[in-house]
Amino acid sequence: MSESTRPLAGRTAIVTGSTSGIGLGIARALADAGADVLLNGFGDASMIAALTAEIAGAHGVKVAHCPADMTKPDEIAGMIPFAEQALGGQVDILVNNAGIQHVAPIDEFPIAKWDAIIAINLSAVFHATRAALPGMKARKWGRIVNIASAHGLVASPFKSAYVAAKHGVVGFTKTTALEGAELGITANAICPGYVWTPLVEKQIDDQARTHGIDRESVIRDVMLEPQAAKRFTTVEEIGALAVLLCGPNGQSFNGAALPIDNGWTAR
Ligand code: NAD
Repeated sequence: MSESTRPLAGRTAIVTGSTSGIGLGIARALADAGADVLLNGFGDASMIAALTAEIAGAHGVKVAHCPADMTKPDEIAGMIPFAEQALGGQVDILVNNAGIQHVAPIDEFPIAKWDAIIAINLSAVFHATRAALPGMKARKWGRIVNIASAHGLVASPFKSAYVAAKHGVVGFTKTTALEGAELGITANAICPGYVWTPLVEKQIDDQARTHGIDRESVIRDVMLEPQAAKRFTTVEEIGALAVLLCGPNGQSFNGAALPIDNGWTAR
C-alpha cells in the first residue's frame, strides 16, 4: 500500500499464532496497512528472525516476536506489556488466531487433545482479550478480530472439540462487542472455510496417496465437498478482511461472525 493509503499507520497490533498460515497472512496485511506488529507462535528461531526482518523491511514498520504459549494464561497476558515495550506503542489491535485441530469420534477423543484445543482455540481468546481491554478502554479505541471458522457456525463429525471451541469463540466475540461498543472498541469473528495454508497443501498430497486419487479429486471430493465453490480461501483474502475490520471503514462491524467460506454455511 502507498503511504497515503495506509489506514493502520501508527497502530500497534498483536497477531497470535502468526509464524505460519493465516496468522502470518494477517500479520503481513496489517503491516502492509501500516501497523507495527507483534508476531507470536512456535518455530525455528532463525526462521522467526528472518520473518520478523522481512516483514519489517518490506513494509517499513516495527515487527517483533513474542514466544508466549497460548496454553499458559500468564504468558498470554504478558504479551500486552511485551508488545508495548518491544514496539513502543499501546496495543490497539488484537487478532486471536492461534489454533490447533484433532479429528476423532467423541467416544475415542483423547482428553488431553480436548483440553488443549479448548485452551488454545477458546480460552486463549478470553485471556488475551481480558489483558488487552483495559488499555483499549482507557484510550477509547480498540479492534479485536477473532479467527473462528465455518465450524463456529456449523458442525462436522469427528471435530467435537474444535467445533465446540469455535462456536464458543463466536459467542465470546458477541459479548466482547456488547461490552466495548460504547467505548470505541469492536470485536468480530472471521469464519473461514478451507484456507490455503502450508498445512493444507501438504494434506492434499497425503490424501491423494491414501485415497489413490489425483489432487483435483482430493480438493473437490474430499476437502472442499461442503463448500459450494470448490476453491480455497487464501490467506491474503483473510488478511484483507482483517484490515477492513480494523480500518476506518470497518467501524460498523461489531459482534459479527463473518463467513469467508465459498458458500459452505449458505446451505
Ligand atoms: P497453522 O498450523 O498454519 O498455524 C497455527 C499457528 O498457531 C502457528 O503459528 C503455530 O505456531 C501457532 N500455535 C499453535 N499452538 C500454539 C500455542 N500453544 N501457542 C502459541 N502459538 C501456537 O494453522 P492455520 O491453518 O493458519 O490456522 C490458523 C487459525 O485459523 C486457527 O485458529 C484455525 O482454527 C483457523 N482456521 C483455519 C482454517 C484452514 O483451513 N486452514 C479454516 C478455518 C479456520
